[in-house]
Amino acid sequence: MTREEELAANLRDVRERIALACREAGRDPGEVTLIAVTKTFPASDVRLLAGLGVTDVGENRDQEAAPKAASCADLPLVWHFVGALQSNKARSVVGYARVVHSVDRPRLVTALSDEAVRQGKRVTCLAQVSLDTPGSSGRSGVEPDHLLALADRITTAPGLELGGIMAVAPLGADPAPAFERLAGYAESLRSAHPEAGVVSAGMSGDLKEAIACGATHVRIGTALLGGRRTIVG
Ligand SMILES: *Cc1c(COP(=O)(O)O)cnc(C)c1O
Repeated sequence: MTREEELAANLRDVRERIALACREAGRDPGEVTLIAVTKTFPASDVRLLAGLGVTDVGENRDQEAAPKAASCADLPLVWHFVGALQSNKARSVVGYARVVHSVDRPRLVTALSDEAVRQGKRVTCLAQVSLDTPGSSGRSGVEPDHLLALADRITTAPGLELGGIMAVAPLGADPAPAFERLAGYAESLRSAHPEAGVVSAGMSGDLKEAIACGATHVRIGTALLGGRRTIVG
């Protein structure tokens, strides 16, 4: 099997899983955007996926994403930045990412806004909310109590648009109750900002639970591209 055939088969499986999850949730599959998370995989895979109809790709490290996006600049792709982001990387990330999913603090809002204005771009920002138990040193994300204040900051920042909310299920726990909480946060965000309808949730292992709780964007790496051999720190 060629790499292209392998990716095509994986893509078919993932699209079927999305369609099935939508059917079970009584949702239209057209409401769910698939983001191919291509971290640790080469630009040649991005190119193959684009040829197979993938329109959205996600990356989590600027060091890796910047050259990959540059070498795929001829492709009609939307690049999503989904990883923890240091403010000093805002300049580079704004250069290629149309959507930043991992906005979790005011200082990052300021850095992205300054760069969007400087580069004459509009960047869609998702507020990343923590689904971990409060005070745990889990994955990043703003504490739910501070979500609306962060969202307000994004809406008033020049060059930025508030797209919605993003979250990662807590490690080693049942994702369903966490995504139910996320649905509640998403609803309160939409009641304050009706335009902020994106719910970015669901990865290879939990896309079904995420779609059941209203995910509009699923971020799929392993199920599409295969196992990542190294976790690059
Ligand atoms: C790597 C990554 C994904 C994809 O995870 P898989 O389990 O490989 O599908 C999704 N979201 C974020 C933030 C990631 O870093």
